[in-house]
Amino acid sequence: MPELPEVETVCRGLSGPLTGTVLRGVEVRRPDLRQPFPPRFAQRLEGQKVLSVRRRAKYIVIDLDGQDSWLIHLGMSGRMVIDRPETDKERPHDHVVFSTDTGHRIRYHDPRRFGMMDLTPTANLSCHPALAGLGPEPLEDAFTPASLASQLTGCRSPIKTALLDQAVVAGLGNIYVAEALFIAKIHPTRPAGSLTKAETARLVQGIKHVLSAAIAAGGSSLRDYVQTDGELGYFQTQWAVYGREAEACLACKTPVQRIQQGGRSSFFCPKCQRK
Ligand SMILES: [Zn+2]
Repeated sequence: MPELPEVETVCRGLSGPLTGTVLRGVEVRRPDLRQPFPPRFAQRLEGQKVLSVRRRAKYIVIDLDGQDSWLIHLGMSGRMVIDRPETDKERPHDHVVFSTDTGHRIRYHDPRRFGMMDLTPTANLSCHPALAGLGPEPLEDAFTPASLASQLTGCRSPIKTALLDQAVVAGLGNIYVAEALFIAKIHPTRPAGSLTKAETARLVQGIKHVLSAAIAAGGSSLRDYVQTDGELGYFQTQWAVYGREAEACLACKTPVQRIQQGGRSSFFCPKCQRK
């Protein structure tokens, strides 16, 4: 599943070709993805000028001059593919296809159809059900050790689970939580409310660091994920613990361990990360 850095990469990849252009030839080829498309979806997008492309948590937000915003979630396997003339070939599972008045053709490709699209007034965007309960953006200045500490006070859930809660911090997923906890030297089973001030500070710093590094590297790639330009990301080769069970910890050579938490794998170094 694309995580925050991948979605940020997609937004940056879409921003150049889309910003300032007018949407043309919008084709919506099925009634739904994870949920139905909004009524008259294609007609409402047609002729709209794109004001900006931005990200909120794992959502792509395309602001339109008709005062609506186009909200997109890539689900498990969604991709935005900007066709280059030499490779312009449509494929099965291209569910939404559109062009711009500057000649770009963009396909939303999603074999598993867990993605989501909606249109909502820009002014009410933060009240949209998908966005209303979200916590702070981890890369914004408002996300600080003090703000995280206030969210975690008294929380008995494991820190791993707490960080996946989108109300605590928006957009973090399994990979980057594992990496951030490794940087912060915190064991994933630690009760969230038990972190010291120094650990909370290291954790905030770790979260910002792993996300920034992944964005700089173009977003990690998993099986179903491709960047807007069709190139694979490559940050996964730099993961310290995620997906490295039984391999040597990069810091101390102890084998990385994997446990299940809330039905998902947690990877950690039993020596570097304190219980
Ligand atoms: Zn270690």
